Order: sequence, then C-alpha cells, then structure tokens
Amino acid sequence: MKILVVEDEERVAQFIQKGLKEEGHAVDVSPDGEDGGFLAEVNDYDLIILDLMLPKKNGLQVCKEIREHGIITPVLMLTARDSVEDKVRGLDAGADDYLAKPFAFEELLARVRALLRRQSETKTPTLKIADLELDPMSRQVTRSGQAIRLTTKEYALLEYLLRNPKKVLSRTLIGEHVWDMNFDPESNVIDVYVSHLRTKIDKGFEPALIHTLRGQGYILSDNAPLS
Ligand code: CA
Repeated sequence: MKILVVEDEERVAQFIQKGLKEEGHAVDVSPDGEDGGFLAEVNDYDLIILDLMLPKKNGLQVCKEIREHGIITPVLMLTARDSVEDKVRGLDAGADDYLAKPFAFEELLARVRALLRRQSETKTPTLKIADLELDPMSRQVTRSGQAIRLTTKEYALLEYLLRNPKKVLSRTLIGEHVWDMNFDPESNVIDVYVSHLRTKIDKGFEPALIHTLRGQGYILSDNAPLS
C-alpha cells in the first residue's frame, strides 16, 4: 500500500517511515502542511498519516481541504495532546482515526492495518485474474489453488498489478506506487522484482499473466498483448 506521512518532527517521521517500509508499504514523507496537502492531492495514496501541529498549515486545515477536494483516502491524525476537544475537531475535519503522541509503534501499526482493511473492503475483497487470486485481508496469494509465498515487496508489486489489470504500467508508475517518490526509475530494481514475481506466479502455469511491453513497461493480463 502507498502511505503519505505528513510530520514535521524528523525523528518521528523517520521512525514511522522505517517501520511502515518494513511492513512492505511504499511511504512518502512530507515536512509541512502545505507540501503534504499538495502531495495528497496529486498522488493516489491508500492512507494518510497526518500530524495535527504542522508548519505552514495545520493538520485540521489540510484534512478539511483534501476532503473538500473530494479525496476520500483514510486519514489517521496524530497529535501531541490526548484531549477530547482535539479528537472531535479532527474527526469533524474528516479524519477517520486519531492517535495521541507518544504512541507505541505497535499501536500505530494496528490502526494503520484497521484503516487499510476498511479501505480494501470497500475496494474489492479478493483480487483476481484468470486463476490467480490475492486476498488483501489475509495477504494470501494462490494460483490454481496452490499457495504462493511472496516477499513483502513482491506482494506489494503483485497487489498493484492486480489493482490495475490490463493496463500498461510504466516503470515510473510502478516505482511511484510500490516504492516511493524518491525511487529512481532508471534503476533496474523493478525488472528484477518483476522477474522474481514472474518465476513464482507464471512458471509452470498457463496462461502467462505478466507481460513485458518493450520500452513501455508491464501489463498484467490473461491475454497476450498485441505489441
Ligand atoms: Ca508537529
């Protein structure tokens, strides 16, 4: 999943980013409300973790504005104070959940999981193409009923492909969604991961599902593309 963290305290931002990356998420970090609001509107995130006290624009304002612009991405609001008033204001501004600092990373993770689960339930329960299935709830992947074990990054890549079937996905797009905005699209990391994923989900099965379009990127399809 792709997550935006808007947090001006560098230490906290890095701590959250590192932990979420270890869980296999792509994480962008923004240091202030203006930049964070901008990123939330131009990129397609699955979750936004938004600090309340931010330079330039506070979290309440950012949340209100992105909701006014029709962005329904779940928002988890962070704040230094655990006051009922702050909580109510946050929820009124359109936040979905609330966490007071300091927090244990395990608690943040549990809330992130709950919000992402809610999000994927409203999207599609099981993602599938041909006989390949991915269950975002249990993170189980099967092909022809056989369980396939994937690393967290391979899983994230496959989930992205399955959410965008039969669409040509450039390396830049894949990099932005599965890695993060600082990803270098010139590197061959994506090709390496696609190759691993292909070995696991296509080798020994028919039809092949991951196709390479030279000079364009990749496409997940149960029909071989024409070019
Ligand atoms: Ca802050």
